[in-house]
Amino acid sequence: MLGLTEEHKIFKKTVADFVKNEIRPYVETWEEEGKTPRSLWKKCGELGFLGINYPEEYGGMNADYNFTVIFHQEMGKCDSCGTALGISVQTDMATPALVKHGNEFLKETYLKPAISGDMICSIAVSEPDHGSDVAAIETRARKEGADWIINGAKTFITNGTQADWITLLARTSDAPGYQGLSLFVVPTNIPGYSTGRVLKKTCYNSSDTAEIIFEDVRVSEDHLIGKEGMGFVYQMEQFQKERLAGCVLALGAMKRCYELTKRYITERKAFGKPLFKLQTISHKMAQMISEIKLIENSVFACAMKANAGIDFTKDVSMLKLITAQSQMRVMEECVQIHGGWGLMHEYPVARYFRDAKLTGIGGGTNEIMKEIIAKMEGLE
Ligand SMILES: Cc1cc2nc3c(=O)[nH]c(=O)nc-3n(C[C@H](O)[C@H](O)[C@H](O)COP(=O)(O)OP(=O)(O)OC[C@H]3O[C@@H](n4cnc5c(N)ncnc54)[C@H](O)[C@@H]3O)c2cc1C
Repeated sequence: MLGLTEEHKIFKKTVADFVKNEIRPYVETWEEEGKTPRSLWKKCGELGFLGINYPEEYGGMNADYNFTVIFHQEMGKCDSCGTALGISVQTDMATPALVKHGNEFLKETYLKPAISGDMICSIAVSEPDHGSDVAAIETRARKEGADWIINGAKTFITNGTQADWITLLARTSDAPGYQGLSLFVVPTNIPGYSTGRVLKKTCYNSSDTAEIIFEDVRVSEDHLIGKEGMGFVYQMEQFQKERLAGCVLALGAMKRCYELTKRYITERKAFGKPLFKLQTISHKMAQMISEIKLIENSVFACAMKANAGIDFTKDVSMLKLITAQSQMRVMEECVQIHGGWGLMHEYPVARYFRDAKLTGIGGGTNEIMKEIIAKMEGLE
């Protein structure tokens, strides 16, 4: 990619080696166990992967956003999207608002150990009755003296059984819609906090996804992130990083599947010649790599804006919509080209195919991306 320095290239190799040696050999086990072990967060922390863009004073690398893109792209190639998701929740979904708006106490107590990999965190927005309509959430935090008392439930929470703390979006007043929401850090080892059902999924099996329940959970007022009533705004900002990370993971997954398929069509023969000699197959490959390259260019265009501190809400909404659609097509074609083997567990394309659907649902569905884009086009 244009604009990548020698440092970026060295970092890419470091992450690629890490994925090859520390993740891929174990993903079958983690898929069966339904979660990725805590030790992986620690290993990532030791290599600086959990605080790439974050200030050095909290253990971060203070690096530019291209490093983040490189990291998630290589993680997307780890053959288990669930593992890559769990780590990306820590780096780009649960922590951006804390870094930008959190107080010193929160950064020292929660951010630092999240960057070092000693603590695992989650982002808790979705509720049993409210997903896309974030402004309608019902989990409530009410002020009592110098404390906040939290009641309610969240669902679909990634890292939900392992998190040491969560970033929680809760209702703090009856002000209409989004104005009544605030963002908190909540430790999970305190009275009233519990994990509900661990959800059985059709995909992302190396990631633990759970319900969490709050029954009179008490946190002191310094657990509020930024200002009361600003939670929706902070979460919408935070979603931009989440969506970009999600697109990059999808890009990495698509690249890996493309490469595996490219290798397969040189080895597999039909009617006396390798599959790649069939024009229908080589044209499918040409279509796939074209979509992948265009998505890669758009990812780096978003990263440039992230580096410059320019709002990229519209860009990343468009990117997420197109990436989600393209990922479904690419994974389906990769399986098709593998024939029956494409549906067997022993071929990673099978899992990539199965895992592809989440990009168009998690962190804002395709329909919600279209809503945002249409609104920003003045077509509300
Ligand atoms: C594996 C997995 C991991 C997840 N991890 C987390 C996590 O860590 N933290 C977290 O908070 N959440 C998480 N989520 C939840 C995810 O973000 C939500 O599933 C997503 O936002 C959609 O919400 P919903 O499932 O409630 O669907 P709903 O909001 O009920 O939507 C149902 C359908 O209606 C459509 N729809 C809704 N509103 C509109 C509209 N205005 N216009 C057009 N169509 C509309 C949607 O696009 C969708 O097709 C996770 C989900 C999954 C599956």
